[in-house]
Parts: sequence; structure tokens; C-alpha cells
Amino acid sequence: MDKKSSLKIYGLLGFPVRHSLSPAMHNAAFRALNLPAEYRLFEVKPEELEGFLLNNAPISDIDGNSFRLTDLSGFNVTIPYKVRVLRIVPVPRLKTVGPIDLIDAVNTVKVFTDHLEAHNTDGAGFWRHLTKDLKFDILGKKVAIIGAGGASRSVCVFLCIHKAKSISVFDVDKDKLRELVDNVLIGQFSNYNTKFKAADSIDGLKIADCDLLINATPIGMKEDDPCLVDEKFIHKDLLVYDLIYNPAETKLLKMAREKGARTSNGLGMLLYQGVEAFEIWTGKEAPVEVMRNALNQAIKR
Ligand code: NAP
Repeated sequence: MDKKSSLKIYGLLGFPVRHSLSPAMHNAAFRALNLPAEYRLFEVKPEELEGFLLNNAPISDIDGNSFRLTDLSGFNVTIPYKVRVLRIVPVPRLKTVGPIDLIDAVNTVKVFTDHLEAHNTDGAGFWRHLTKDLKFDILGKKVAIIGAGGASRSVCVFLCIHKAKSISVFDVDKDKLRELVDNVLIGQFSNYNTKFKAADSIDGLKIADCDLLINATPIGMKEDDPCLVDEKFIHKDLLVYDLIYNPAETKLLKMAREKGARTSNGLGMLLYQGVEAFEIWTGKEAPVEVMRNALNQAIKR
């Protein structure tokens, strides 16, 4: 499709993407600000990504319409391509903004004629939700995190930048755990006063002494998933934040709520990573409440 009109095309590249809530959120925002723009879903096959990014080869949206990179004004990237985009597009054609090198993943790209500008708004989205909506002040707080994958990395970097007192992480994948704790946290933030620990078990996270517990694993998405944390560790001064938003209340969040802890699912993080992306693409202040309502409606469907 040629970019003949002034209509700007944005979208999500990933596989699979059909159930994404992002079109509802972004298209509502474009309508609210009267912007001639639309957000589409692109289910990109692994063998298509490089040609699309480097040679302007066409990809199809889920309705069968064909688009080239030069037709797009910006796009989000999701599983499984958040790291691959960084590996495929060489610098200086790819310009990174913010702590992308630490996070080593990209989720938002703004397209310019001669280069792509890469951002990661996941951590910023988490941070904006934590501080703006939940009014949580991280300064001097102790944090326990389960999971050391991409989402955990994005979140950890923001917790470090904003001076958490301590961050303990546990992951079943010991290589990923060591990479995050030794190379990213201790390696990059050793001049901060934050203490870092790679825990060898959930017990080793010392959740009972913490102020914030984050689940950054996919455990809790499926109905028969276990609750990863024993209820004896949960206390009333703890905020339990599960990055999962579907289901809205995981077993972990239900148990924590019943034990009197504050809880949050990951819908606010999803909202604000979208808000950040919208602002990067358009240069305009995002209509946050419009986007929040659209997201709440879309998730009910
Ligand atoms: P990821 O890269 O696969 O990382 C998850 C990590 O958790 C993996 O290292 C995994 O190890 C580990 N893990 C799995 N089961 C575990 C267990 N029982 N105990 C400890 N560690 C365990 O996934 P991700 O992209 O970081 O995403 C993590 C979660 O965050 C997903 O549910 C995702 O949907 C959610 N998320 C939400 C948002 C939002 O906007 N709310 C944004 C991004 C991600 P193995 O690989 O060995 O299984």
C-alpha cells in the first residue's frame, strides 16, 4: 500500500498478535485527538522480518493488506522479535533512545526516512503506572522479583535508576538470572546504593521483609498454573504487582488480596507503555483516560 494519503499507519509486529489490545487503545487515542492515523496488527513470520526491516519488503496485516516499512510511521514490537530487531538493524540506521542497551530489547520504533528510532517503553510504562496511579515511592524500598526475562529487565532498570534500596531476583533459568543480576544490575548500577541479590529460590527472596513483590514470569496466565509464593510471606505493607493482566486476578493476586496486601495486575503497565509509545510517535500528550477506557472495554470482549 502506498503512502499516498496523509493517513499515518502504525502497528504491532509479532507472532502471534491477533488477541492484542493495542489497536483498541491506539485507535481510540487517534480518534480522540482527530489524528488521521490507524493502528494495525502484523503477524510477521520469522523469515519475513529481516527483508521488511532492511529491504523494504512487504508484510501483510491480519486483514491481508500489504505494507512496506516506508508505509509505516511507527510500530510496536512484541514476542518473539523484541531482541531480533536490535540484532537485525545495524547502527547508525538504528538509533537507540533511553536505556535500550541495558534492557537489550525494543518494543517501540519510530520510522524516519533515513533511520529507525528504537525505544523500550515497557519499563517506563511500569514506572509511570507504579508512581502515577499506585503512588508508590520506590526510594529506600526493598523489592523481590520472580523472573529474569525481558519484562523483568525493563522493570529492574527503572527500579535501579530510581534508587530502590534492594532488588532480589529469582528465576528457574540460572543463566538468565546471572546475566540480569551480575551483568546488568551489578555491572551497570554498582555506583548506586542499591543492593542486588540473585536468590536461589522463592524463599531466598525474603519476601516477608520486602515492600514490593513483582511477578515477571508467565506463571499465572493458565488456569492450572500454581501460585508461586507461599501465603506466609505476604503481609499488609506489601504491594504485589503481577505483570500479567489476563486473567485480571491471578492466583498470586487473589491470595495476596485475601491476606490484606495491596495488589495490581499488569494492565496499567500495558496502558502506560502504549501512552509512552503514542507520545513518541505523535509528539502529543496522550489522552490517557480515553486509552484506559478503550483498554478496559477491549479486555472484557
Ligand atoms: P520471558 O522473557 O519468557 O521471561 C520469563 C522468565 O520467567 C523466564 O526466564 C522463565 O524461565 C522464568 N520462569 C518461568 N517459570 C518460572 C518459575 N516458576 N519461577 C521462576 N522463574 C520462572 O517473559 P517476559 O517477556 O519477560 O514476560 C514475563 C511476563 O510479563 C509475561 O506474563 C508477560 O505477558 C508479562 N508482560 C506484561 C507486560 C505488560 O505490559 N503488563 C509487558 C511485558 C510482559 P524459562 O524461560 O526457563 O521458563
